Amino acid sequence: MLGEIKGLNEECGIFGVWGHSESAQLTYYGLHALQHRGQEGAGIVTTDGEQLKLAKGHGLINEVFSQHRLEDLNGHGSIGHVRYATAGDGGYENIQPLHFRSQTGGLALAHNGNLVNAQALKNQLEAQGSILQTTSDTEVVAHLIKRARHLPLEQAIMEALSMIKGAYAFLVMTEDRMFVANDPRGLRPLSLGHLGDSWVVSSETCAFDVIGATYEREIKPGELLVISDEGIESKRFSAPIQRTLCSMEYVYFSRPDSNLDGKNVHASRKRMGKSLAEEAPVEADVVTGVPDSSISAAIGYAEASGIPYELGLIKNRYVGRTFIQPSQELREQGVKMKLSAVRGIVEGKRVVMVDDSIVRGTTSRRIVKMLKEAGAKEVHVRIASPPIENPCYYGIDTSNSGELIAANHSVEEIETQIGADSLSFLSVEGLNDSIYQGEESLEHGGCMACFTGKYPTEIYPNTMHPYEKA
Ligand code: 5GP
Ligand code: SF4
Ligand code: MG
Repeated sequence: MLGEIKGLNEECGIFGVWGHSESAQLTYYGLHALQHRGQEGAGIVTTDGEQLKLAKGHGLINEVFSQHRLEDLNGHGSIGHVRYATAGDGGYENIQPLHFRSQTGGLALAHNGNLVNAQALKNQLEAQGSILQTTSDTEVVAHLIKRARHLPLEQAIMEALSMIKGAYAFLVMTEDRMFVANDPRGLRPLSLGHLGDSWVVSSETCAFDVIGATYEREIKPGELLVISDEGIESKRFSAPIQRTLCSMEYVYFSRPDSNLDGKNVHASRKRMGKSLAEEAPVEADVVTGVPDSSISAAIGYAEASGIPYELGLIKNRYVGRTFIQPSQELREQGVKMKLSAVRGIVEGKRVVMVDDSIVRGTTSRRIVKMLKEAGAKEVHVRIASPPIENPCYYGIDTSNSGELIAANHSVEEIETQIGADSLSFLSVEGLNDSIYQGEESLEHGGCMACFTGKYPTEIYPNTMHPYEKA
């Protein structure tokens, strides 16, 4: 029943390897570990020192790449991308990495994030005669780099980075170098690791574990790394400012086995659940999480409240992209695809249902209904993040605030709409403390703009336009 629910996410994942004879294979495994960040398309660009080779396509990483296709990508440097796209912008040309050829050589780009001034830059470039081939804001960056081609490449990239605003973790590769950049506020996660003598870069550290690489450090806000056979060099394209990493990475996007800024995601989520139990206790018989994203928070809630944690909901993992959705009629008869409530556990019980977030409210409403149909006596919904009241302009497609249930309804109204016996959200302070544990103050912590409306960058009026995001 939940199979047709599409999250509002526009997250993507990027991964790169330099200095390994099997760089494309490693990138394939790295991207596989980042698959939760995007399932609509994937691609890898490899260099053998002479030329760049690209393979990309729609679907999951293992649908896009066969053994044969991967073997064609032989080279010592690779960058890759997994992508999430909303309906209508899923064209092949928008699948990343983007690959551009010119007289002077190739250029490949992979991007996670969203540029808030992409439209202004696009208008400017088009007025100056550039022809943009995709609807992606990533292409804008390629054009900015090319426009500065009178400069040495490294400076051209610095120049381009100084013109773009918003959230971006970037991998850029030519035949002989890889460039790694994080935006001046470090809104999106990006880590550096090594595997023997090779360098590895990933949106999340879980990919390092998968390929046996060792975590080195985060890419700093405003940092540009230049990696080549000569070694690694760190440069700055912006003055140091306080990092405002996306809090939603801790709440929902990242994998529980990843560390962000050295903090484990599962442990952070458990603390969110614990804070939620302290802020919003309730008398109940069992606590259950919604697989997979809220399990950690539910365990934290159970531990802190002393109410036993149970598997009240089970997820069927085999609902792929091309799974045939049941007709409305079959759904009304109760055909459920992705999630099922466990009658033996919830029947006759007062259930605390912990979820990580509410965006449109669809998931919570369906799960409450499902638990009640399975005999739950009461369903108390506890959300391990604050109400999302504001759009995100940094790569998460909540830019249409009309869809955000908490932007237009009070907690009491949402409680009624989802049919819960009670509903509570974690406070902004509770979330901040759960992530930073007093290390950083609210003013200086991560981005919480979708909860608080305090955006860490300027917001341009045309940011509202539905760009292609990466
Ligand atoms: P809703 O059903 O309220 O629109 O979305 C919230 C649910 O979808 C949660 O269970 C959450 O785990 C999941 N989800 C899927 N995509 C996203 C996303 O992009 N952001 C957030 N916050 N939750 C998402
Ligand atoms: Fe993350 Fe929300 Fe900030 Fe967007 S507005 S970057 S989702 S914390
Ligand atoms: Mg969920």
